Formats: sequence, structure tokens, C-alpha cells
Amino acid sequence: PGVVYLVATPIGNLADMTERAIAVLKTVDAIACEDTRHARKLLDHFGIRNRVFSLHEHNEAARAAEIGARLAAGESIALISDAGTPAISDPGGLLVRALKAQGHRVSPIPGACAAIAALSAAGLDSTHFWFEGFLPAKSRAREARLQYLHGQPSTLVFYEAPHRIQATVESLCSVLGGAREAVLARELTKRFESLDSGTLDELRAALAEGRVPARGEFVVLVAGASDNETDAEETVPVDQLIEALLAEQAAP
Ligand code: SAM
Repeated sequence: PGVVYLVATPIGNLADMTERAIAVLKTVDAIACEDTRHARKLLDHFGIRNRVFSLHEHNEAARAAEIGARLAAGESIALISDAGTPAISDPGGLLVRALKAQGHRVSPIPGACAAIAALSAAGLDSTHFWFEGFLPAKSRAREARLQYLHGQPSTLVFYEAPHRIQATVESLCSVLGGAREAVLARELTKRFESLDSGTLDELRAALAEGRVPARGEFVVLVAGASDNETDAEETVPVDQLIEALLAEQAAP
């Protein structure tokens, strides 16, 4: 039976492509990719002339069945996304679950991942971290999600697009408080790479004043809740819980 390989590709700097990635992409029977035109450019650069077919959030379930049949017939398939590691805020997770449930072998070919690259160079606690990926686009849903993360003691890691970075940092300030230490990791591995550290308030101002340009791709990292923040977080719900239980018992 065949194998499906989850192949990481560069997040900006083509020199980050690994030797294994190139070898696997050359030898599999076909390559599933998020966007065939985008993939073609990358593959051409490395002289990989394999067949490609699309796999994105709208056809992932259907493709899982097709790929399963091809693996059963002995073919091997590679999956790549537009950038970085597939299935990390990218298509692939559903495919992996479906194929594993069918008993197929799934093998990772590791490489670049923006979250891990940013975390390694941010200077925040990297022993424990919470990968959140993209927050909701609408501000109410975004702030509700941040409320849920408010007491989380691990470093928080977010992905964000340039047109939403300002609004997201504003939400972070208003829900988590402007005093938390944070890092804006921008355009990692590219020519204009920058990693700016400061409090959330300072970084909000830096974006507003254009000192950190709202262009390119961002990883936003925020220090986890301090001990007093987590304590405060825990006592409130427990009090409320007891009150609610007492109220329930008092009811006829
Ligand atoms: N699967 C990818 C990975 O392994 O990092 C992530 C894909 S996700 C659709 C794209 C997001 O990743 C961007 O919006 C940005 O938040 C982050 N990202 C990707 N490349 C980046 C880079 N070079 N610098 C900073 N952030 C990047």
C-alpha cells in the first residue's frame, strides 16, 4: 500500500526547501496542492515535473476518498500547501484523519512552519505555547475567543493577515490588557523580515504610526497570563459556579 507524505515547503525563502522534500516530490505518483498554479511555480524552480491536482477546503472530503483509493492501489501521494507545513492553518487535517481511519500510512516531511520559526526567535517563553492560528475576522467573535484565552498561562501564537493586523492587535490590547509583552514577527525568512518586541500597547502604537508597516505576513506572539491573572480567572468562575449550584438547589 502507498504512503501519503505531508511535505513542508518554504514560507518565503526558497532556500529553506529541504533535500527530502525535493526527493519525495520527485518520486511520488502525484502531488496534491492547495493551488495548482502556485505549486507549479515552486515545483518548476526545483525541476520537479510531477503531476499535480488541487486539494483545498472545498474538495478535501471528496479528495480524501479518491486519494484513499489510489493508496490502496499502491500509489504514493504527496500533499503540499501554498507555504509552510500542510495541515497547520492550511488544508490537510481532514485528509490525514480520513486516511488514518482507513488504515493508511501518513508520513511527515518536516520543514518550515511560521509559528515555530517565530516562537524560536521571539524571546518569549517557548517551553509552553498555545497555537491559536487565525482569530475570527469579526471583532465580537474575535474578542469572545480572546476572553476564553485570557487566563491561558502559555505563550499565545496567532497568525494574521496584513489587512487585519491592526484590528487584531487592538482586540488583544482591549481583552488581554496593553501591558502584556508581545512580538510581531513579520515576513519571516524574507528580505524585509522583522521581529518587533514590546508591550501590546507599544506594538499597537508602532503599527498605528507605521513604524511597523502593516504589510506582509505576521505571526503575533503574546506572553501568557501571569500568576495573578490566572488566579483571578479561576476564582471568578468558581464563585459563580457555587452561586449557580446554590440557586439551583433553592429552586422548587
Ligand atoms: N501552513 C503554514 C505554516 O506552516 O506556517 C501557515 C499557513 S497560513 C494560511 C498563512 C499564515 O501563516 C499567514 O497569514 C501568516 O500569519 C503566517 N505566515 C506564513 N508565512 C509567514 C512568514 N514568512 N512570516 C510571517 N508569518 C508567516
